[in-house]
Formats: sequence, C-alpha cells, structure tokens
Amino acid sequence: MPEADLLSIRPTLMTSAKPAPILKSSHLLGIEGISAPEVVALLDLAETYATLNRGAEKKTALLKGRTLINLFFEASTRTQSSFELAGKRMGADVLNMSVKTSSVSKGETLIDTAATLHAMRPDILVVRHQDSGAAELLSRKLDCSVVNAGDGQHEHPTQALLDALTIRRHRGSFENLTVAICGDIAHSRVARSNIRLLSMMGAQVRLVAPRTLLPCDVERFGVKVFTDMKAGLAGCDIVMMLRLQLERMTGALVPSAREYFRFYGLDREKLSYAKPGALVMHPGPMNRGVEIASDIADDVDVSLISEQVEMGVAIRMAVLDALSRGMT
Ligand code: ASP
Repeated sequence: MPEADLLSIRPTLMTSAKPAPILKSSHLLGIEGISAPEVVALLDLAETYATLNRGAEKKTALLKGRTLINLFFEASTRTQSSFELAGKRMGADVLNMSVKTSSVSKGETLIDTAATLHAMRPDILVVRHQDSGAAELLSRKLDCSVVNAGDGQHEHPTQALLDALTIRRHRGSFENLTVAICGDIAHSRVARSNIRLLSMMGAQVRLVAPRTLLPCDVERFGVKVFTDMKAGLAGCDIVMMLRLQLERMTGALVPSAREYFRFYGLDREKLSYAKPGALVMHPGPMNRGVEIASDIADDVDVSLISEQVEMGVAIRMAVLDALSRGMT
C-alpha cells in the first residue's frame, strides 16, 4: 500500500477521540437484530482493515489493555484463528480456551464456565457452541461483549458479514444480484445468517438442495427454493456452496458422497448453468469431490474462497473495533 494511503488510514484507526458508534447492541449475536445501515458501516470499516492487513505494519493499539477470550466448543480453523489474529493485531490480550483441555470436558456446564470466565473479567468473549442460543445465554450472564462465532444451526454472523464484504468488493452492491446457496441448508448456520443478510441488503437469494437437506420450515425464509441444480443456478451471479454437515445429521440424508456429487456437487458443467462470469464461494471447511470439484475451488478466476478467508480477518477486526466503541 502506498505510504500516503497508510497515513490517511492510521489516524482514523488510532485516534484517541471516541469514534462514532456503529452497533446499537454491545453484542453481536446474529444478523437478526442488526440493521442494513449497521451492516454497511461494518463493511466500510472492514475495508479500512483489509487495506491495513495488506500493508507491512498491521498493528493498531485500539484494543490495548483489553482481554479477548476465544471459547470454542466446536472445531474451528478459520473463525478461531482469524479472531485470534484480529485481537492480536489490535493490541488485545487474547486467550484461546480449548474446550478439550478445559473442565468443560469433565462435565462443567455452560453456566459454570460462564461464571469462571466472568471472574477473569474479559472485555470480549467470542463463543462457538453446538447449541443454538448458547451465545445469547452467555450474553445475559456476563458483563462483557459476546460475539457469536456459530451456535448450532442458528447463526454465524461474522461469516455472513465476511461473505457480504467479499461479494461487495467484486460486484459493488447487492441489488440486482442473485445468490444461490447450495447444499446442506438444513444444518447450516452460515445459510441462515446469509439468507438474512443478503435479503436485507436487497439481493435475490435462492436455496438449492435435495429435499432431505432443506429445513422443514423452509418457506419461512421467504426465498425461492429449488431441488434441481440446473434450474437453481440458471442466471445467478454468485454460487455459494455448503459442506455436508455429517456431524449434525442423525441419519443418512444422502445416498452416498458419490451420488451427492453427481447431482449437487459443483463442477464445470453445473457452473455453466449460472451467469457467465459467476463467482463461487464456500465458507470452509470444503469436502473436495463431495460438494465442490477441486478444479473449481482452486480456479482463481472463479473462486473467492481464499479472499473469503482474508476478508474474515478484516471483518473480525471491524467487529471488535465496533464493539470496543461502546466500552467504558
Ligand atoms: N465453518 C462453517 C461453520 O462453522 C461452515 C461449516 O462448518 O461447514 O458453520
């Protein structure tokens, strides 16, 4: 980044004057509950962090003296490491609590864990949990800001925000954009947060999945639903693929991975049904050869997957920045 641009960004990131609030709430529990102007403000702020992150000197002192705890009850690669990096780049003390090595694996309840954490006086708690509503429960029990990093099948707000940032960088806006979310919608918190956010921002959202992988109350989302990839992808601008979440399935919902790929896996032929120049996204982790062909995932001309990871750090920095604005 040219030195002149850096100089214009740094003062806004390091100013001692209190910057304008962005979020009404002191927590980020879901896309439900935040407004379109709040989303736009977060995306704009994340752009400044995306620029900062591409420079050699990536640090700000905005969270100096603050403590961020990452509490992950479910496996995570991208989300946990990007919150850790975001906190460290902003000068916070970051503690990663691994549930496997904590007392939670000895049977401590979520409420007991909350009480323990409360005594450590964190400023921000980032939590991922297998139960829908866990982040909201903790937000009621703790004094600090709580960020939902994925709760069961409910929401994953920072994933939807980073997806929106990635889309906006390529398409400029959300209006007149058709986004097809394909695959295991039934078990996906990513789908739920993206449906909310993209619809709120004016995009046309479609869901494409076999009947067994659609939620039984799918009409509640108010979006078009397709069970055929050809019809679902026809004319769309963005194809967002989802992982088969086998860990959340109680029985076999697809005949076999091979069969699934044949009908619902994204390959060149199925991508050709979408608009010419359509872009492909995936929140990760990917099952290559199950929901997406490797050559598409790795094709830098169509795949935004690496950029999604990069924007994940920028979005998480913007969220931490926004939450810190409400702190005393
Ligand atoms: N990483 C995303 C999540 O935590 C998607 C996935 O696991 O498939 O929901």
